[in-house]
Amino acid sequence: MNEDTMLVQRIANGTVVDHIPAGRALSVLRLLGEPQKRGVRVAIVMNVKSSKMGVKDLVKVEGLEIEEQTAQRLALIAPQATINIIREYEVVQKTKAVPPEVVYALLKCVSSSCITNKEREPLVTTFYRRSHKPLVYSCRYCGRDIDENEISEQLIGVSL
Ligand SMILES: [Zn+2]
Repeated sequence: MNEDTMLVQRIANGTVVDHIPAGRALSVLRLLGEPQKRGVRVAIVMNVKSSKMGVKDLVKVEGLEIEEQTAQRLALIAPQATINIIREYEVVQKTKAVPPEVVYALLKCVSSSCITNKEREPLVTTFYRRSHKPLVYSCRYCGRDIDENEISEQLIGVSL
């Protein structure tokens, strides 16, 4: 199968996440909760030429429609991602990943004195988006900022 065939081969139902920064397809799957480990059929295409991005990755998940909230979380590591929902081979919904205004229980506060890092006070972390470009979030409890590099380090173990 050549590259073009791989790219255009369509799925009947599911989600195609496009415009993922090259090398991040696996991280996107991790953020989606590793559907491949639950027997869901997943196709990963890496290092595809893109006029917009140079090279990009692409992830197709069969039979699973990514929910809005998850789609937004994707923006934390793939800010340009487009999420295509496919039904009966047709794209029925195409959305751009937008960094969520509020992020619950996903990021850790980087301040060691923050109440969310105290063992006796098990609080769910909450971060508010302060800036979109560049991406900056602030801890609800101590106000400490967390930037794009810190976010991707926490979520996928590498900085941008
Ligand atoms: Zn904090």
